[in-house]
Amino acid sequence: MKILVTGGAGFIGSHLCRKLLESGNSVVVLDDLSTGSYDNLAGLEEDFGLRLIVDSVNNPGIVDECVRDVDCVYHLASAVGVQLIIDQPVRTIESIVGGTETVLKSCARYRRPFLLTSTSEVYGKGIKVPFSEDDDTVMGATSRRRWSYACAKAMDEFLALAHWVEARLPVVIARLFNTVGPRQTGQYGMVIPRFVRQAIQGKPITVYGDGTQTRCFAHVSDIVGAVVKLMDCREARGQVINLGNSEEVTILQLAQRVKKITGSPSEIQLIPYSEAYGDGFEDMVRRVPALDKAEKLIGYKPTKTLDDVLKDVVQFEREKLNLHN
Ligand code: UDP
Repeated sequence: MKILVTGGAGFIGSHLCRKLLESGNSVVVLDDLSTGSYDNLAGLEEDFGLRLIVDSVNNPGIVDECVRDVDCVYHLASAVGVQLIIDQPVRTIESIVGGTETVLKSCARYRRPFLLTSTSEVYGKGIKVPFSEDDDTVMGATSRRRWSYACAKAMDEFLALAHWVEARLPVVIARLFNTVGPRQTGQYGMVIPRFVRQAIQGKPITVYGDGTQTRCFAHVSDIVGAVVKLMDCREARGQVINLGNSEEVTILQLAQRVKKITGSPSEIQLIPYSEAYGDGFEDMVRRVPALDKAEKLIGYKPTKTLDDVLKDVVQFEREKLNLHN
């Protein structure tokens, strides 16, 4: 198959591209290299003939050309990371809502199957544990910039589902919970690469708030495998499916685990949210996925633990910092 991956030069996108190429597909990547990077695709052009087009999903002409030429589309291009969303709210909203609208229009025109990677952020401030796909979304006020990301992604979901309802365009939505692994950058806020790098460098490990908030972290290899299966699953069409891992950890425990696994002398520092993200920031207290739907549809069961994730990220960051020991 010939496959388009928007955002293919990003962290998850680059892992997805490698998987698709290794299964014998040919892959075209459309990426503006804003948060993604060429390094993430290193070797894939030469080794597998991957084609990289450096442009934006907000460019309808380019998007249309790309979509016309392929058999299906994985749409991963998106603003990512809480820090980036807080710092660049216009870009966040425009890239997410506008980009998805553009890609979907072309998919509808040429009847190309479309998979959207959405986010557990759409559950918002909901306090149910675990989150199931049909649970209510609970958004904060529009003055709280964080929620623009959740609302924009929710709009993308609505739009994709609308194409399914109106014209049976094959769409599927993978709602990803915190996904981690090699090549993720801590630059835009993601906690694990940040903690690991801080620990390796002997800098304070910065836990925001009191560290009692929890998350569940999935290894990118589990997520990418599931995303490919969802694209091929007919019963998943027109549906939203959670993907993640249900091993829950508080952020303070996470800091302690990172410290231990790296043998770091770093102190763990509690930093108020207002200092980290400015006034009026709201965090989620717990975020745990219900994974029974993914299991039922594609036999999904995470194979990697949090320790596996941490080991891989530590190795990657050490190599990057040339501190391999
Ligand atoms: N976090 C933290 N220190 C950091 C970065 C993030 O304590 O340097 C916290 C953040 O406040 C949140 C959790 O770690 O409670 C996960 O943050 P991330 O940005 O990775 O993902 P989120 O789940 O918030 O989208």
